[in-house]
Amino acid sequence: MNADIYLGLGANLGEPSQTFELALALVGRFAKIHQVSKLYKSSPFGFSDQPPFVNAAAQISTSLEPLDLLTKLQFIEGALGKEVIRKNGPRIIDLDLLIYGDRVIEEQDLTIPHPGILTRDFVLRPLLDISPDLSHPSWKPKTLKSALGGLQENFIRESPEEWNLQL
Ligand code: AMP
Repeated sequence: MNADIYLGLGANLGEPSQTFELALALVGRFAKIHQVSKLYKSSPFGFSDQPPFVNAAAQISTSLEPLDLLTKLQFIEGALGKEVIRKNGPRIIDLDLLIYGDRVIEEQDLTIPHPGILTRDFVLRPLLDISPDLSHPSWKPKTLKSALGGLQENFIRESPEEWNLQL
């Protein structure tokens, strides 16, 4: 079983909290979900003419190898109705494989750690929620905390939604 796997969840169409619950219920069929962050709402990244995004992160473990895990995540995205009209555009769900233990992968379809982690507050903040001391060999000497300190946060609010998953 591979532990210390982190997923990023994002959505700005539909009801993101409900979509995240559904997505995590489906992830739970092939992985153990250990922790889920709070939900964060932030102004859109990329194009401003779209609704704000809601983001969260989850820590999971699974025996699936990274590419197989990514394939499952993409299947869930499709099942939940994801259609990408443009890069960084509106979407019903986005599931990213952020970190897979200390693995470093640079393949055509998969980059791990996800390249957006250290530069996007909406990824960093939820990750810090669930794993404040998280580090990765390829970040040395950077920690998540120091990366967040250097970013201008654009969170509209920390979501007050209570989200009680049966973990
Ligand atoms: P997006 O729809 O913006 O999330 O982009 C999905 C694309 O990013 C797919 O083609 C994936 O193969 C690729 N990708 C590369 N690395 C990752 C990763 N760590 N997690 C999720 N998707 C990834």
